[in-house]
Amino acid sequence: MSIPPAITRTPLADLSETDLTAFLDERRAEYAALKARGLALDLTRGKPSSAQLDLADRLLELPTTTRDRAGADVRNYGGLDGLAELREIFAELLGVEPQQVVCGGNSSLTLMWDVLAYLLLFGAPESTQGWSQDEKVTFVCPVPGYDRHFSMLADFGIEMVTVPMHADGPDVPAVEALVRDDPSVKGMWVVPTYANPSGAVCSQEVAAALASMPTAAPDFRIFWDNAYAFHHLTEEEAKSADILTLSAASGNPNRPLMFASTSKITYAGAGVSVFAASTENRTWYLKHLAMAAIGPDKVNHLRHVEFFGSADGVRDHMRRHREIIAPKFAAVDVALTSALEGLGVAEWTRPTGGYFVNLDVLDGTASRVVQLAKEAGIALTPAGASFPYGQDPRDRNIRLAPTFPSLEQVETAMAGVGTCVALAAAEKLAVGV
Ligand code: PLP
Repeated sequence: MSIPPAITRTPLADLSETDLTAFLDERRAEYAALKARGLALDLTRGKPSSAQLDLADRLLELPTTTRDRAGADVRNYGGLDGLAELREIFAELLGVEPQQVVCGGNSSLTLMWDVLAYLLLFGAPESTQGWSQDEKVTFVCPVPGYDRHFSMLADFGIEMVTVPMHADGPDVPAVEALVRDDPSVKGMWVVPTYANPSGAVCSQEVAAALASMPTAAPDFRIFWDNAYAFHHLTEEEAKSADILTLSAASGNPNRPLMFASTSKITYAGAGVSVFAASTENRTWYLKHLAMAAIGPDKVNHLRHVEFFGSADGVRDHMRRHREIIAPKFAAVDVALTSALEGLGVAEWTRPTGGYFVNLDVLDGTASRVVQLAKEAGIALTPAGASFPYGQDPRDRNIRLAPTFPSLEQVETAMAGVGTCVALAAAEKLAVGV
């Protein structure tokens, strides 16, 4: 699908009262027609579609053997750090050493939760006590960000302070100012590659600054959630910043904790997860994990090794995903361009990877847009979901997730979203006239 030529329109804020009223009336009529269609569409969560899951169905016939490369029976207990051959594949993909990697169960979010729980209970190798013994624990949260990161922190009673997320990563001066003098600031989230929801890619320079910045907390941690490391939407494949090497080179080898998974590569509910960190962090993690498990699901590990064959097997597989989902992202852009370009009431990302489009609407109208869409049968992620406690101070941010519905459904839903954004903006501006 090609993108229509830029549309020349007068920004809504510059319209005369008569023209704004006419625009509002047109959008109301368009919205009434939209509602009358009785749609039931869902753009809420970043889930792979059935067609994407089908790509991995050969997994259901694997593994063809019960032995790993070293001859161990994968059906039995043991091998807490995961199958060596799987660790090698992901080490190559993530640009780390196999001995820095642990492979686990199906969810990287669970790994993050576990690591955070260990930190709160026992502290990091260089901590004097579990973080929960401190009066206050604070995390730096780049926004917009991943809602489940924030709800996890809220559940643990960890305070959140926000910093802006830019196209090249978190706002470094803002992060530096927060971590420099306050020892309660123990960590931060970073989704470095094709971030949820902005699609931003953390540059090597930003990563280097985060790796080397002085922190008041000696046990400061960067939760480097590389969930979309290989999820390219174009041929220009972004390379993830090399946080483990940068941190080690800056004398802070234990600062980063890296996470990834195959949730959006093979099966979201039955993939494998990956943890990578310094030797000391890895040993620390496995020591605590050993109290909770005797070994991971190595049958699934072997299944994935046979399925991919190599790191290149993963790369090839991701190109097949791209063929399915890139047209959906293009459809989002076409619909938003056609409905909103030139009106001065919305900005959106054109991500080159990942699972989301970030839509910023006129300040103070995001909740109204989501409500209008809901009443027209189009489910959107709640406004503010990409902010701690679900509170977007400007009420302007909406996360769009186009992968799960069919292309036709994305086209229909996004045309409807365009109508809702324009209507909500015109309503707001008309009040001020
Ligand atoms: N991290 C990010 C940034 C995500 O967007 C998601 C899912 O949307 C996850 C983690 C979930 O990962 P997993 O399925 O491995 O638990």
